[in-house]
Amino acid sequence: MNRNHEYSDKLWTEARRLFPGGVNSPVRAFRGVGGTPFFTQRAKGCRLWDVDGNEYIDYVGSWGPMILGHAHPQVVRAVQETARNGTSFGTPNPLEIRLAQLVCEAYPSIQKLRFVNSGTEATMSAIRLARGFTKRDKIVKFDGCYHGHADSLLMKAGSGGATFDVPDSAGIPADFARNTLTLTLNDVAGLKRVAWGEIACAIIEPVPGNMGLIPLHPEFLQTLRQVTQAGGALLILDEVMCGFRVAKGGAQELFGLTGDLTTLGKIIGGGLPVGAFGGRAEIMDCLAPTGAVYQAGTLSGNPLAMAAGIATLEELFKLGNYQKLEVRTAQLCDGIRTVAAQAKIPIYQTRIGSKFCTFFTDQPVIDYATAKRSDPKRYGKFFHALLDRGVYLAPSQFEVGFLSLAHTEPDIETTIQAAAEAFQTL
Ligand SMILES: *Cc1c(COP(=O)(O)O)cnc(C)c1O
Repeated sequence: MNRNHEYSDKLWTEARRLFPGGVNSPVRAFRGVGGTPFFTQRAKGCRLWDVDGNEYIDYVGSWGPMILGHAHPQVVRAVQETARNGTSFGTPNPLEIRLAQLVCEAYPSIQKLRFVNSGTEATMSAIRLARGFTKRDKIVKFDGCYHGHADSLLMKAGSGGATFDVPDSAGIPADFARNTLTLTLNDVAGLKRVAWGEIACAIIEPVPGNMGLIPLHPEFLQTLRQVTQAGGALLILDEVMCGFRVAKGGAQELFGLTGDLTTLGKIIGGGLPVGAFGGRAEIMDCLAPTGAVYQAGTLSGNPLAMAAGIATLEELFKLGNYQKLEVRTAQLCDGIRTVAAQAKIPIYQTRIGSKFCTFFTDQPVIDYATAKRSDPKRYGKFFHALLDRGVYLAPSQFEVGFLSLAHTEPDIETTIQAAAEAFQTL
């Protein structure tokens, strides 16, 4: 259990000299749980190996994309074979068409789409498009939902319904903040108080997974669909995380919901940088070069990234895979609940498909405010106790766990055993 972290620690010293906070994306810095991160040398299946040779069962999966597991042979082969013919052309390439067909097949609401290089780019572009299409400026988002780091989407989680919020991040002009209205999840009455006739769009994670995992009431989502439509506002379903994760057709298939625009990322790139946004043709045609809303990308539709995405989706869509993910994740969650109860540690667990979350509270978690009741110190201790035992959960209470098709029953048994020991240390 006394793992050697000598080389990781050495790299961390150098990383802190070179990068702000030592990292190129904040949550990797372990600030949510204390301690210092390990540096990964390689990954295969459901496992990571760090530079000191320690092995971990991985439930982060690169924050969502690795639903097949790491270094899946089909994905690796697709990238290698594609690279042999060049890595970027700056012209249309046939792989863009194949990936788009796979996306449209899974998402009936997407008639046309555009590929970008990240989830952030997808949501940022979708918002601009919604504003251009409706010729309105104001947008609605929900407390605690994360949509990437575009200016108008980084608004603080306010509470209590419709208030025009202040920016959460420094560096965002107050004028931008004024155009973003923040509402509370699962608050049906709050939805009805908004003057939707002035709103360009509402953007929501239909399976909120960036404050832990919070299931939404079907009535809430249905009402959101109705009120936006009635007011002529577009509904943007941000499925960057839940797309291809909770079902083949994402949250829209799961809940029988139709977005005007949908944003995707993570899984569609199979571990390479890909995002996409798409929807009704009439809206998408407002984009340049046919329409007046500008959007572009030097590396968009990159052949390597398209190849990784195609290989991932083709493998994922094979019969029985979603069922397998469902069953294994349920098995893991049941096991964790049982050993927590044995150790008399109160937890509140949520799960949708292969996404799961353990809150350290005995109260139900239904929105951002209740999610914040979870005890972060306890989570940090639990996280480190598991890490010491070779199990890697997300280094923050407000992130979810992801299972992959590479997690076997023995991996899950090992994890539950480690969790039993970890709960005993709390
Ligand atoms: C991860 C995420 C994003 C941002 O995607 P990046 O590729 O990190 O820019 C946007 N929306 C949701 C719901 C996400 O989970």
